[in-house]
Amino acid sequence: MKSRNLLMIPGPIEFEHEVLQSMSSATPSHVDPKFISTFHHSLKLMKEVWQAPSGQAFIVAGSGTFAMEMAAANLIEQGDKVLVISTGYFGLRYAEILKRYTADVDILEAEVGDVVAIEDIEQQLKTKPYKLLCFTHVDTSTAVLNDAKAIGELAQKYNVLTLMDAVCSVAGEEIKQEEWGLDIVVSASQKAIGVPPGLALLVASLKSIHSFKQRKTKVQNYYADWTNWLPIMKAYENKEASYFATPPVNLIIALEKSLEIITAEGLEQCFERHRKAGKAMRAALRALGLELVSKNEKLSANTLSAPFYPDNIDGTNFLKSINEQGVTLAGGLLHNLKGKYFRIGHMGSVNQNDLLATIGAIEKALQKHNHQHNLGAGTKKTLELF
Ligand SMILES: *Cc1c(COP(=O)(O)O)cnc(C)c1O
Repeated sequence: MKSRNLLMIPGPIEFEHEVLQSMSSATPSHVDPKFISTFHHSLKLMKEVWQAPSGQAFIVAGSGTFAMEMAAANLIEQGDKVLVISTGYFGLRYAEILKRYTADVDILEAEVGDVVAIEDIEQQLKTKPYKLLCFTHVDTSTAVLNDAKAIGELAQKYNVLTLMDAVCSVAGEEIKQEEWGLDIVVSASQKAIGVPPGLALLVASLKSIHSFKQRKTKVQNYYADWTNWLPIMKAYENKEASYFATPPVNLIIALEKSLEIITAEGLEQCFERHRKAGKAMRAALRALGLELVSKNEKLSANTLSAPFYPDNIDGTNFLKSINEQGVTLAGGLLHNLKGKYFRIGHMGSVNQNDLLATIGAIEKALQKHNHQHNLGAGTKKTLELF
């Protein structure tokens, strides 16, 4: 039996061979003309993928959490009022980051598996002059998908800047940053963007850059400060050499490759493929008698699924059995439900074979743990939907 496992967690994911290969070239200087051209092209492709033609793209070494922090550090000054809409673990993380930068944070927290109703967000926006509305597009702890378009439009109505954590959604779920009025959309390389971990990525609207330029106080984080990074991004846009802190050269070469693959597929096709994968995975899990954390189809993410373990099954042993079948899945992340559910990533280059292998491994593990189901019911459902 082959020793390789299929990595079906919500990031890092299975990466395209071409992307991995592109990283193994000799590392050029960060001011090598060819690399300058790669950086230039990656910034341009990001704006295409984010659908933000007039936005400012940033590529900086760091994980998704750093992309979140960079946005907070540059936008927040002492006492700025921020409304955080939380749909799970990452919403609460954002609230902590914003508080660390001395924001005055109110949190509207959804019930587990649900979203906060748009009417409730509007009600809250009426109570104070918020500077910023922050939410998570796909919360990776619950597999809940927020209606980014509706939230973006609502925030515009109240003239509030929007900050969307899209670490688990860019290049997987439909995002039209500019059309939907989203000011800052942050992401990271290792999820649907399909590049090994290490890149913090974000696109900021001109409005948010303007707000940053109006600051009265210095940014309280030297490495995150746009005062340092804006001239660097501008230089690469103009194909000029520059330096503030060494960029992760090989990862950026891989980023260009992956963004090329995504745009060559076509964004609409890419979103449709994820919708199909999400729908098939959820239907297959239900066919096996598993319930999902996300309450209904409309608010279910397409980049990952979060099913509850069946009663009387020990989660750790169950995931171990799946792993022995050649598929790696992730445990729960939400504090009070940690041992009760697991997570399956299905984003990026995911295809029908990956889904079938995953469902097949889950079925075998269920059988091993004496769960009653018709063997093949899940794989059948997947095949029917593809
Ligand atoms: C993965 C993830 C993060 C954190 O990203 P890291 O790269 O682990 O720092 C933040 N938000 C969401 C929605 C995520 O899925």
